[in-house]
Amino acid sequence: MKCPRCGSENVNVQITNETYLKKQHHGLLWWLCIGWWWIPTKWLLFTIPALIFALFGRKKQKVVNKQVKTAVCQGCGYSWNM
Ligand SMILES: [Zn+2]
Repeated sequence: MKCPRCGSENVNVQITNETYLKKQHHGLLWWLCIGWWWIPTKWLLFTIPALIFALFGRKKQKVVNKQVKTAVCQGCGYSWNM
């Protein structure tokens, strides 16, 4: 593998773990303020998108672990994601 910046073959590959939270579920305040009228309105106006929303909206928050390979050039110090 070559460095895209200087063309050196002296490249180290590191594997890092990135942990992040998946899209959060609507909170209690959202339901009190918006959810109770917004959901029925949405059902009336966009039945099919609301059905899809309901299916995906019920999924609980999930922690996703993603392995990221990072290459670091030993020659110039340039790093990039693979
Ligand atoms: Zn380089």
